Amino acid sequence: MIQKIDHLGIAVKNLNESVAFYEKTLGLKCEGIEEVASQKVRTAFFHAGETHIELLEATDPESPIAKFLEKNGEGIHHVAYGVDDVQAHLDKAAAEGCRLIHDKPFEGAAGKMVAFLHPKSTHGVLTELCMPKKSCGCSCHH
Ligand code: ZN
Repeated sequence: MIQKIDHLGIAVKNLNESVAFYEKTLGLKCEGIEEVASQKVRTAFFHAGETHIELLEATDPESPIAKFLEKNGEGIHHVAYGVDDVQAHLDKAAAEGCRLIHDKPFEGAAGKMVAFLHPKSTHGVLTELCMPKKSCGCSCHH
């Protein structure tokens, strides 16, 4: 089940400048900056109520974020839904004919297990499914 929009991913050219804007101008608090080597990105997370904002900066010209910026410039890169079971959602989407970027969840930023659906199959929006890696302590079965 989709529980909420967990975060919006926003591609930026310069993470430090963008963090300053989100902190000073918007007044959001940066929760931390983290490099995700497997995705060749540096990320900064902000709380915006229950939803988070994830800023993404490329750390390599081959990064998916570098390619996105080249094509589209800065802007919203993906929508991430918090789900109870990423694998079950992937399997269901695949069974419905949706193109997947990952057929298995992998560890993304903020210790979450994540996977992406291809924007060609999602009406133009790169769609992330994510869930906490560690047991959340509730009655669900992570
Ligand atoms: Zn994300």
